Amino acid sequence: MTAVASRLWIVAGAVLGRPVPVDGPYPHLCGVTYTETRSRKPYRYQRRDCAACAMSRAGGPG
Ligand SMILES: [Zn+2]
Repeated sequence: MTAVASRLWIVAGAVLGRPVPVDGPYPHLCGVTYTETRSRKPYRYQRRDCAACAMSRAGGPG
């Protein structure tokens, strides 16, 4: 286990197909279709599934 691995958003990185560092803002996953490797079922993230949307609703301006 390296320090680098723990500094990435694992789920968001898998969904977006690129490393997402925790230092930056959590990326929007809404509207992204992600095919889970194990189930092989594509899943389309909705706004309610999107942590970035939830954060902006909770405390952000607008
Ligand atoms: Zn979003």
